Amino acid sequence: MMRRLSFYERFSRAFQDHPSLVKLLVVFTVSGGGVVAYSESKSYDGMGIVNSSEAEGKKKRVVVLGTGWAGTSFLKNLKNPSYDVQVISPRNYFAFTPLLPSVTCGTVEARSIVEPIRNIIRKKEVDIRYSEAECIKIDAQNKKVYCRSNQGTNLNGDEEFVVDYDYLVIAMGARANTFNTPGVVENCHFLKEVEDAQKIRRSVIDCFERASLPTLNDEDRKKILQFVIVGGGPTGVEFAAELHDFVNEDIVKLYPKVKDLVKITLLEAGDHILNMFDKRITAFAEEKFQRNGIDVKTGSMVVKVSDKEISTKERSGETSSMPYGMVVWSTGIGTRPVVMDFMKQIGQTNRRALATDEWLRVEGCDNVYALGDCATINQRKVMEDISVIFSKADKDNSGTLTVTEFQEVIDDICQRYPQVELYLKNKQMGSIADLLQEPKGDVPKGAIELNIEEFKRAVLHVDSQMKNLPATAQVAAQQGAYLAKCFNRMEEAEKNPEGPLRFRGEGRHRFRPFRYKHLGQFAPLGGEQTAAQLPGDWVSIGHSSQWLWYSVYASKQVSWRTRALVVTDWTRRFVFGRDSSRI
Ligand code: FAD
Repeated sequence: MMRRLSFYERFSRAFQDHPSLVKLLVVFTVSGGGVVAYSESKSYDGMGIVNSSEAEGKKKRVVVLGTGWAGTSFLKNLKNPSYDVQVISPRNYFAFTPLLPSVTCGTVEARSIVEPIRNIIRKKEVDIRYSEAECIKIDAQNKKVYCRSNQGTNLNGDEEFVVDYDYLVIAMGARANTFNTPGVVENCHFLKEVEDAQKIRRSVIDCFERASLPTLNDEDRKKILQFVIVGGGPTGVEFAAELHDFVNEDIVKLYPKVKDLVKITLLEAGDHILNMFDKRITAFAEEKFQRNGIDVKTGSMVVKVSDKEISTKERSGETSSMPYGMVVWSTGIGTRPVVMDFMKQIGQTNRRALATDEWLRVEGCDNVYALGDCATINQRKVMEDISVIFSKADKDNSGTLTVTEFQEVIDDICQRYPQVELYLKNKQMGSIADLLQEPKGDVPKGAIELNIEEFKRAVLHVDSQMKNLPATAQVAAQQGAYLAKCFNRMEEAEKNPEGPLRFRGEGRHRFRPFRYKHLGQFAPLGGEQTAAQLPGDWVSIGHSSQWLWYSVYASKQVSWRTRALVVTDWTRRFVFGRDSSRI
């Protein structure tokens, strides 16, 4: 599978795996699920030097790019031993990103939210190897991935290698989006990776230590203690809340002379912060921040960041500048350069992410899948296939469609076009007859018969329910699990196809398309208060939601080890406060 350089060939050794340890599981009342049971490990060539496709006979070679939410979820759920899997990622661990804001102020330690990928892939059933390297080019035509090791220690100086694949799973995530704003890369912190959170933690402490030096006057101190957060999305808001809690609960005791000079400003270009949440949550968050003294400036677009000042353009058109001690940039995500190159190669230009179909297959290439933040699903519109749907449903070829005929294919239609189900639900339509009745309101339900034009009118607004999935861990993890299930059943499904009808072609699809199940979202607002928006637009704000947040985040940890560490960190913080040492 992998062609490596002679350095590796000479120095590689079979990786001797240790017999698995019996893990004593501590049961926390808060943790309900997400358990990873580490299976007995197996010896394998940890360096991946051998041409494993030869070594493994006819095993299909699967290359997975990325060890984030999507890639790890795929690996955890892959159970079919007939694959030879090679994981490539510059990060040899999985990071629980929702707790990154907690790492910035020491509420949770960085090591508590990461799990080594080698721990996760030590599975009995599937041979999975990991290489710490980044993919620098994908050649879909020749089914090759070009990689570069980030170790930089090769004796012969050559760190690049090529990996062949039969199936490629792209789960490389995204990078921070600066919108090409001048000075952002040079002067701002990002909050995307564990290292970013650690850097922020050190910088926050630096600001307080610097401001405490005896040589400064209060004016200088104020500048240093001006913390600016750009972006009023969940990450920016949570960081602002964390920082506020840190200052008020811990810093206030340790740096009493400068505590009153601290200012936290949150800049948001839109009209409100947390605008993807319910209006009640937005309003509560804005009010709470105001009460806490966090300055929320909406309609304020950052146009430049110099090493001392941040310049914004206000809604009125005016431009203003303010000095800062530290800026955290959190304005959403952009495409990684390697993904951008690949998109150009396969004709997907002018897009934010790799387009896939509902089976997560990258459009325009064979056997390449993309999931998580680096991809978007191009949901097919009902209107694009309307004639085919009509003729499939019209079994007696009468040229008209009855409610019974439509009912027979509705399950397949809803599987293939989830927007139909959403439309029926949102419009509170009890039955298919309700949907078809619209054009012929006065006809009794049982007697409805539509020709193609009437049918088109009936489903005209159905496609309006289509929405891109959000770039979240929830989506990425569900996609990884879905794809692994497809891979687990690949051979079986070849023999016994099942799934929805193919509306553009004969037969049935081998698998049901991916369906996202939204489980709700949280916005921690500080002071032990969290806003929760759960399915069905159920909103809860306050201390009880904070406990729900603790429970969910503990239960969603990738291993019992990290679960134990995170819960211990929370307890430590309650008892002793946050650690302000600059290490
Ligand atoms: P990632 O998890 O980013 O993983 C990408 C992987 O690809 C990484 O392992 C990376 O090292 C690897 N990689 C990068 N470049 C290459 C390359 N060239 N070759 C090979 N591998 C490469 N979502 C929620 O649902 N709830 C939350 O509360 C939440 N909070 C968040 C808080 C923060 C601070 C952040 C930054 C994100 C948060 N998210 C949350 C979003 C969530 O983290 C992302 O949607 C999720 O990480 C996407 O998963 P992914 O696997 O696509 O990408």
